[in-house]
Amino acid sequence: MQLQGQILKMISYNDQPIQYYLNLSGDLIHMNELFGKELSIKHIGFQCVNCGEDKPIYRMGFCKNCFFESPYASDTIIRPELSTAHLGIAERDLDVEKEIQLQPHTVYLAYTGEVKVGVTRDTQIPTRWIDQGATFALPIARTENRYEAGMIEVALKDHVPDKTNWKKMLQDDFEDELDLADFQKKIKEYFPADFQKFYSEGEEMWKFDYPYEKPEKISSFTLDKKPEFTGKLIGIKGQYLSFHGGDFMNVRGHEGYVIGLNIK
Ligand SMILES: [Zn+2]
Repeated sequence: MQLQGQILKMISYNDQPIQYYLNLSGDLIHMNELFGKELSIKHIGFQCVNCGEDKPIYRMGFCKNCFFESPYASDTIIRPELSTAHLGIAERDLDVEKEIQLQPHTVYLAYTGEVKVGVTRDTQIPTRWIDQGATFALPIARTENRYEAGMIEVALKDHVPDKTNWKKMLQDDFEDELDLADFQKKIKEYFPADFQKFYSEGEEMWKFDYPYEKPEKISSFTLDKKPEFTGKLIGIKGQYLSFHGGDFMNVRGHEGYVIGLNIK
């Protein structure tokens, strides 16, 4: 089977195990059905997720120009604490920023090989956690907007990492129950005083079941370094395709890349 298209992040469905769909220009390919098959991936070009032009991808699927101009790639996407839409102050485009920022957000603890803190829009639950490859996730605060969630995260990240270490995530084989609720109680004191009211205890802990077993060695490749790759797909965790022999490709890291995909 020969396919071609622009990569967007995989769509996931929280089942046991999680079901993944590769999104190639809107064609959805059910990846769980391809385990054990040989995939050949060839980098053909680019298609910026914003302007659609065939220009090198700079970050997050955007060409350099769009990354620095689109409101969908603004600083507050990565640093929620800088949000100003609740004050009516525009960063790049107030209407878009209001839509993104002025809605319920959740601050959470997730286990991705280590405990980390993060912020998500409620509409992205549980997708956000699956994209990160979290084994467990626990909401610890519920806020009305992105700014409030960001302020809590900033205070907590002096005590808990806020980045996912992809190698630790892929190496992880944590099977037992991890008590994130206990962890939450330990960091409660670091909540900023003005934001204690958003603290939420006793929430349900999420547990995720990936179609994945960790290999002996783990090495990640990009299509920049390896424009043509062939390997047998054996599993998926987070947004990482796992190939026989320990090769991994981060699908989300290739948003905006146009590829040819051959399935044998
Ligand atoms: Zn662009």
